[in-house]
Amino acid sequence: MSQPVIVWFRQDLRLNDNPAFAAAIQSNAPIIPVFVDDTAYGRAAGTTSLWWRNTSLRALAGDLKTRGLTLIYRKGDGLALMRALVEETNAATVFWNRQYEKDTIARDTQLKSWLKENNRNGVGHVGNLFFDPWQIINKNSGSHYKVFSPFWKACLQAGLPCDLSVPPAQLTAPEQWPESQPLPEASAAPATGMDALWQPGERGALKMLDMFFENSFDGYADNRDTPGGVTTSRLSPHLRWGEISPQRIYASLGEERIDTNDGRKFLSEIGWREFSYYLLYHYPDMPERCLQQKFETFPWRDAPEDLEAWKQGRTGYPIVDAAMRELATTGFMHNRTRMIAASFLTKHLLIDWREGERWFWECLADADPANNAAGWQWTAGCGADAAPYFRIFNPIIQGRKFDPDGTYTKTYAPELANLTGKVIFAPWEASSDTLSDAGISLDVDYPAPIVKHETARARALDVFHAL
Ligand SMILES: Cc1cc2nc3c(=O)[nH]c(=O)nc-3n(C[C@H](O)[C@H](O)[C@H](O)COP(=O)(O)OP(=O)(O)OC[C@H]3O[C@@H](n4cnc5c(N)ncnc54)[C@H](O)[C@@H]3O)c2cc1C
Repeated sequence: MSQPVIVWFRQDLRLNDNPAFAAAIQSNAPIIPVFVDDTAYGRAAGTTSLWWRNTSLRALAGDLKTRGLTLIYRKGDGLALMRALVEETNAATVFWNRQYEKDTIARDTQLKSWLKENNRNGVGHVGNLFFDPWQIINKNSGSHYKVFSPFWKACLQAGLPCDLSVPPAQLTAPEQWPESQPLPEASAAPATGMDALWQPGERGALKMLDMFFENSFDGYADNRDTPGGVTTSRLSPHLRWGEISPQRIYASLGEERIDTNDGRKFLSEIGWREFSYYLLYHYPDMPERCLQQKFETFPWRDAPEDLEAWKQGRTGYPIVDAAMRELATTGFMHNRTRMIAASFLTKHLLIDWREGERWFWECLADADPANNAAGWQWTAGCGADAAPYFRIFNPIIQGRKFDPDGTYTKTYAPELANLTGKVIFAPWEASSDTLSDAGISLDVDYPAPIVKHETARARALDVFHAL
């Protein structure tokens, strides 16, 4: 039997439309699929995202099994383990889809050199983006783009690739399987509302896409800012772990949908994801350092009590609290309320965006090395193409505008359910009769605001002006 090849799964937990897996199949060699829980390279997943990944791994292992392959799982230093596996199995080639964090790039580069020195091959593919980030260059400056719109225009002009593939029902296994550690134990979801909402794995991703087209695609461009109800695709955790590729989503839009306002808007959101990875590649320190250097001297407040109130959804601003509780109970937060909650932390509370980024990293199912840092830097005003510093979301107006009937707020802050009208977003403005009719005693049933909006806004503007 011929020498086997290894497919190294990382952030691409799917079998369809997986360029690395497709290339391994094309090689006609026996295939050893591997997942390394890498403790040395790449940022360790937070609790919720780790639950997602482990559940997804079990789904992947099941799908491989039906094709006659066993997923080999090992935990430890990614580079050392892969070298050992290659030697152990005498694999001729290792196929993978590229990752773009600085240390994962360094790891893959080292592995590739080592494979070459040992007369073997390491072959990387673009598996989770449309383009590798170095492919799209601003022809005027000869450098990379710093602003989303021209970047996305350049991507569209280059022609979005559509690399689709379906693996055969049976694949060739090696004569002997290397040892595998047991897959991580199946565990209950970290939050109560998660099991009903999510199905990690490739099948769940495709189902989610179908549901989106069926229920929420029409009107997406208008409705996507409304957090109440399901107005967006909720594909982000599936995309984060590569259970579906952007190219598959693009293909599924088809000619009919792509030429609509909703289609263009939806595709451009996938474009924002592409842009975040582009930024991560060109600014490798993006998760830790402000893209705009001047923000590195920003006098963030050290305010542990305020930070805790924000994390627990007890700031006294209902739309912010609802958002933080949506996160805690579902592992997800709507994009509009992510912006409101992040703006509140960085501007009303003047707490460092990195604190918020770390909390989201811990709690989000879709916690993503590129999107999370880019989203935080954008909101804080220190990122590329960021919201200007003076754009301070008013959490009362945002609530009234984007959750007009309070559906979202009442879902996650049910103690406010009996308040009606605009006052739900500023309960301290309600008369004592209204509050008592609604069964609310401020600071007993629901917190009084931890900062006054006008004072916080003025304070933030002062600090930003000084900068
Ligand atoms: C402070 C902050 C933190 C964020 N952290 C993350 C994160 O850790 N992981 C993550 O995937 N997204 C993050 N986002 C982006 C965005 O909020 C989510 O991608 C989106 O809410 C996911 O919901 P959806 O799949 O229903 O989106 P849809 O509206 O259906 O969009 C489809 C896909 O496009 C991508 N997308 C949409 N909006 C954005 C955006 N603004 N930036 C980048 N990609 C986008 C996502 O992959 C999403 O799944 C963050 C945004 C902010 C403001």
